[in-house]
Amino acid sequence: MPRYAITTFGCQMNVHDSERMHEVLRRAGYTESEDPKAADVVVLNTCSVREKAEQKLLSEVGRLAKWKQTHPEMVLVVAGCVAQQEGERLLTRSQGIDLVLGPDNIPELPRLLDDIGLGAPPLVRTVFDLEAPRFLTALSDEGDVARNPTVDARAPTAFVTTMKGCNERCSFCIVPYTRGPERYRPSAEIIAEIAGLVAAGVREVTLLGQTVNSYRDPSSELSRAPGASPDDPDESEFAALLRRIAAEVPGLVRLRYTSPHPRHLTPSLIEAHTDLPVLARHVHMPVQSGADRILKRMIRRYTRAEYVARVGSLVARLPDLSLSTDIIVGFPGETEEDFAATLSLVREVGFRGLFGFKYSQRPYTPARKLADDVPEAEKSERLARLFEVSEELLGAHLQRLAGSRQRVLVEGAGKEGTNAWTGRTERNEIVHVAGAERLDLRGSIVEVVITRANKHSLQAELSDEARAAAKPLPAAPPAAPVEAPKPRAAGERRSLPIVAAGGG
Ligand code: SF4
Repeated sequence: MPRYAITTFGCQMNVHDSERMHEVLRRAGYTESEDPKAADVVVLNTCSVREKAEQKLLSEVGRLAKWKQTHPEMVLVVAGCVAQQEGERLLTRSQGIDLVLGPDNIPELPRLLDDIGLGAPPLVRTVFDLEAPRFLTALSDEGDVARNPTVDARAPTAFVTTMKGCNERCSFCIVPYTRGPERYRPSAEIIAEIAGLVAAGVREVTLLGQTVNSYRDPSSELSRAPGASPDDPDESEFAALLRRIAAEVPGLVRLRYTSPHPRHLTPSLIEAHTDLPVLARHVHMPVQSGADRILKRMIRRYTRAEYVARVGSLVARLPDLSLSTDIIVGFPGETEEDFAATLSLVREVGFRGLFGFKYSQRPYTPARKLADDVPEAEKSERLARLFEVSEELLGAHLQRLAGSRQRVLVEGAGKEGTNAWTGRTERNEIVHVAGAERLDLRGSIVEVVITRANKHSLQAELSDEARAAAKPLPAAPPAAPVEAPKPRAAGERRSLPIVAAGGG
């Protein structure tokens, strides 16, 4: 059987696309190889949202191309956003690539590999599926998650795509170019995938989309949500979708979404948060800057005051809700005064997590017309100051939780020898649960007592009630708990462990 290896760069949307690539390849008879050098087909699923990520990819391509000189039978595939962005040009920029594959062309991967096997020259397939959008799911061919051999039946969390592409034109962002215009998935399909995942043991689902809360049902099957105004240009059908999921998949324990756009945080969405206990008490709402002058140059289409008013209405209804955000520092023309406005916004809103990035010019973006005039050293210094404030806010928040009782969804094993299990609260704090090594907690929602605040997480023990109710791990063979998802590569990021969809 031919073997394949996939390396993923970038956001949660790319991680999700890689999972779907695993599925199409396994169904076509390929088996996975841990070691790319032992694989017949190597796929690099790429990210172009920041210059650094693109450079990383190109050096990886160079490394593999060198390997290929002595192993010419290996097929090298470049997929994802760099593939979409560069297309044919990749073939001339980097020797050794056999296939350039856009995100919408994943279902065609096995057929294209067959063509290459039959001697086709290097191929480029980067066509948006505008007429008939395809959304690959975790369902098996029979429409059943449990029968899909690539799905981990014990995974307690899963991602479900609701839409793809983006109709915004934020001046720094390449996503509208690499992912195309917005296309939405019919609500019945979304419900079916979530219901299948829940039947297979999933407790928490995160809805994915570049601007996830601009959702509209292409099948027109959703009723208008309470609070939705047909005259509000920012209104979407996202609140109605959330309500339908809550009503039709009652077994779902937690529902999250990423990444939303602040414009679509409308009264109907705030009402949905108030009414639906299944919605987690955490929202990641990208703001990007706290200075109106910069927000305008970024073409974000809201002001600082509008952002504060919208998230303020949400928190007024749900005071225990945690907010996190994305911020770009050193955008063209950002003065010290503008940056100070960003810092003051972070404090004013009280974000408990943020992803911070230094601005880097991306091809095909409107901001390329602006001079990238903030010196690199200044960008780094601002990023460090931003993280300092963010860590202070997160640290104070975590300290306040010491001694409290929290409900944690246990996602998997903690670090060996230190903590038995790791999970998250509904506000998205990471919690390490010690002293429960012999108990089978994976996928359970357990009550814990917080014993200590770490720098970015909480230390806890099971409450007496949770300990009494927990099942022991089977004696033999020992069920080695599956390791919890690792926090995302840090570098430029400090936050609660939210996952960004590379949008919003
Ligand atoms: S930042 Fe988000 S909303 Fe703006 S263009 Fe990019 S994906 Fe769209």
